[in-house]
Amino acid sequence: MHKKKKINGNSVKPLDTLAKFAKLEFSEGEKAAAAAYPFLATNYYLGLIGNDLRNDPVYRQCFPDRRELIRHKNLSTDPLCEEKQMPVPGLIHRYRDRIVLLVTNRCAVHCRFCFRKRKWKTGIANQDISDEYLQEAFKYIRRHERIKEVLISGGDPLMLETSRLKEIIDSLSKLKNIDVIRIGSRMPVVLPCRIDTRLVKMLSEVPGLWFLTHFNHPAELTDESAKACSMLTKAGIPVLNQTVLLKGINDDASVLEELFRGLARLQVKPHYLFHVDPAEGNAHFRTGVAKGLEIMEELRPRLSSICTPVFAVDLPEGGGKVPLQPDYRLGKKYLGINGRKILYP
Ligand code: SF4
Repeated sequence: MHKKKKINGNSVKPLDTLAKFAKLEFSEGEKAAAAAYPFLATNYYLGLIGNDLRNDPVYRQCFPDRRELIRHKNLSTDPLCEEKQMPVPGLIHRYRDRIVLLVTNRCAVHCRFCFRKRKWKTGIANQDISDEYLQEAFKYIRRHERIKEVLISGGDPLMLETSRLKEIIDSLSKLKNIDVIRIGSRMPVVLPCRIDTRLVKMLSEVPGLWFLTHFNHPAELTDESAKACSMLTKAGIPVLNQTVLLKGINDDASVLEELFRGLARLQVKPHYLFHVDPAEGNAHFRTGVAKGLEIMEELRPRLSSICTPVFAVDLPEGGGKVPLQPDYRLGKKYLGINGRKILYP
């Protein structure tokens, strides 16, 4: 388990305070990136950063980088066209049977690779979903009986008070067509103390609830994050993990093997490994799909299916998720793995 440095409390620090704390000097490019996409992190998460600051996987996930300002015609502020797939403000309806409900644009940490950076970039106010929009969303779900599943997302939904979250979840649970409620949160990774007994009790009482979290690197597997996950699993809440493949952070089979094994040990199922979406501000994190496939091929003989996530890309223009696999079929009769070509009877 990664040993984290002790830092007082879990409050959030502005960039200048942090610069003093870490004795960092920021370049003009880094300051410009932070001006476009504000820096935000918890003291807990900053405490995971090791001595080799600028190469540290946690540092690189939360500190500004001048390359966030690269603009290119293939990059978009809304690469998955979510805003166009919102019949009701805050409700994304892309797939037939499920919707995403964005309940806040607030997060505990601003992840530099986030594909929803447009929601928290400079100039955008902190906002939680209003009662009016929630009622519209509930009406929409009721009207569309084929919707069976809701993903509560944001921002980070656990930025809401537990009582507010309970109101939303209770209302969703009462909708007859809803079988499954998913809640997507990075809190076990960036602020594990948010997973407290009151929250866990509330979530454990919701039928059909799944918890989706987002670990990207084994350095994020700490005693605290393990406790947060085990509080959820011991309460009977299934926990899945989504990882984003990040250039220079986790684009290495050994790093991911350690992460996925560590998660499975905590009974957290590695669910998806996502290729970075072509969002403005994220180009420098993109590995290319071929790199992801190469890593998956390397991991195949090293990890059981419990430890292995599905590698996927989200298609632009709201096309949806597409799972990708290395090509094991070599001609009509042969299968190949690890450079071997084997005749399949
Ligand atoms: S917590 Fe989630 S929504 Fe918030 S910045 Fe990180 S990835 Fe984006």
